[in-house]
Amino acid sequence: MTTMESLIGLVNRIQRACTALGDYGGGDQAFSSLWDALPSVAVVGGQSSGKSSVLESIVGRDFLPRGSGIVTRRPLVLQLHKTEEGQQEYAEFGHMQRRRFSDFALVRKEISDETERITGKTKQISPVPIHLSIYSPNVVNLTLIDLPGLTKVAVEGQPESIVQDIENMVRSYVEKPNCIILAISPANQDIATSDAIKLAREVDPTGERTFGVLTKLDLMDKGTNALDVLEGRSYRLQHPWVGIVNRSQADINKNVDMIVARRKEREYFATSPDYGHLTSKMGSEYLAKLLSRHLESVIRARIPSITSLINKSIDELESEMDHLGRPIAVDAGAQLYTILELCRAFDRIFKEHLEGGRPGGDRIYGVFDNQLPAALRKLPFDRHLSLQNVRKIVSEADGYQPHLIAPEQGYRRLIEGSLNYFRGPAEASVDAVHFVLKELVRKSIGECQELKRFPTLQSTIAGAANEALERFREESKKTVIRLVDMESSYLTVDFFRKLPQEVEKAGNPGNPAAAANNIDRISEGHFRRIGSNVSSYVNMISETLRNSIPKAVVYCQVKEAKQCLLNYFYTQIGKKEGKQLADLLDEDPALMERRLQCAKRLELYKKARDEIDSVSWVR
Ligand code: GDP
Ligand code: MG
Repeated sequence: MTTMESLIGLVNRIQRACTALGDYGGGDQAFSSLWDALPSVAVVGGQSSGKSSVLESIVGRDFLPRGSGIVTRRPLVLQLHKTEEGQQEYAEFGHMQRRRFSDFALVRKEISDETERITGKTKQISPVPIHLSIYSPNVVNLTLIDLPGLTKVAVEGQPESIVQDIENMVRSYVEKPNCIILAISPANQDIATSDAIKLAREVDPTGERTFGVLTKLDLMDKGTNALDVLEGRSYRLQHPWVGIVNRSQADINKNVDMIVARRKEREYFATSPDYGHLTSKMGSEYLAKLLSRHLESVIRARIPSITSLINKSIDELESEMDHLGRPIAVDAGAQLYTILELCRAFDRIFKEHLEGGRPGGDRIYGVFDNQLPAALRKLPFDRHLSLQNVRKIVSEADGYQPHLIAPEQGYRRLIEGSLNYFRGPAEASVDAVHFVLKELVRKSIGECQELKRFPTLQSTIAGAANEALERFREESKKTVIRLVDMESSYLTVDFFRKLPQEVEKAGNPGNPAAAANNIDRISEGHFRRIGSNVSSYVNMISETLRNSIPKAVVYCQVKEAKQCLLNYFYTQIGKKEGKQLADLLDEDPALMERRLQCAKRLELYKKARDEIDSVSWVR
């Protein structure tokens, strides 16, 4: 294999890799840019100038509809794929995949039929391309594009706009900077009237990617020749002009085959009195060689950018693979290790939520700072310690014998009754913190990238964590209720000792009615005082509990969650068998699929890179 062939083969492999990627991912960004980086060859010229004939002879196969009048009416995007020596040649259409054509006469018929499917049997044209791939040991890898011929006037059956429509369509192909232009002009017309050269000069002013091809040398008037054009004197191009003799219409009618046609062409130049000295630089075979050489240099110049694109894609894919996680181990020990690692990863995130770094832990403080104090303020002490209720409770506690000095029993009952109210806010604080913790568990599981691929383990960890939180909640509730109960079990003696003694004000003893009234007033003041004493005692307790409940909650729930959320789970998992461990690491099928695809693409790209590496230094 020559370097050129291996290089073009490489390009073809990259193209194939890209096509595979395109099939897989659709809008793969690297795909489109890689594809764009590779050159294609398009034929441009007036109608019947011999474009399809030139393309055919480059390919070395008869398969394109040719003839006078408007034959090529849709763009034909032709991909040549070189196959191993000895392989059977075949063609495949984009619109009809999986059907292999080995008879090239049928290929030609299908091109005509497919053209008519869109345009009808009219003289209309369509910009919708036909895609054709040819697999053969006798071609070089290349993308060739056959285009409808440029015309000057609309003929019968064509819309007025056709001249401009064709030009626009052709231009859309040849204006791409990676398109190599075969500008076809017939030798039996003045080169100054060449549509091909006109358009090529517009889209490629420097002529870097334009190859001038002169067809129909055999049809020139006797006594004239095309030496001025072929030797670059009429119109100078960067690349040398190539003269061609294709099959005439009579040859086509007689089914003269390619081999014979090429021999005749060689003979034509070898025996020509005008072009004999140019024999080695004329003809379709020489044109094919010239094109390949040019393609090689174009591709070589693009290798660095292709390599860097491939490398970029490889980097991206590798980081995606890291993100998706490597495949899981099969032995139980390694699986247990993986599970523990994953638990730790979750635990780390959960801790960050509690301790800061990630949001959410502050909501626990919100419970202590807002919710608890607000709930304490709302307790119905006003009602419980109303004059009426105080009188009722104290009297009930006294029984038949009213109290003499201070109503000891009455005080106790009033205080016990009040303290009972603290149970509600105490339990509510426990529950509120419980829900915050539960929410943080949920969030942490969601944020744990490593866990994403293991839905079963995810829900198992969530279950274990929530169970643990439930246990902490029970413990915490017991503790805060105990705090409240402790307050009622022993009252602060000092508080009552420090209370000022009641001073009875004597009224007017002379007036019995006034005296009774006075007694009422005295007792009312007495009960009011009792109520207010109890109220200040309860306020003092409220203050104490406002401080101690958070301590209990943090001690029983938050600290435990931070330190041993999964401890119980760890002891359980240690006892599990291999099968149970494997079940926990049961992966999300969608994710497994993604990893598989990712690995495949990675392999394709790496192969493409290796291939580039292997040839880019060979010359
Ligand atoms: P296109 O319309 O540019 O694709 O041209 P075709 O390849 O279909 O050729 C148009 C007609 O010109 C056909 O009848 C060909 O046989 C004929 N033709 C093309 N090239 C040559 C040539 O070099 N010599 C002769 N004698 N006829 C040619
Ligand atoms: Mg044609």
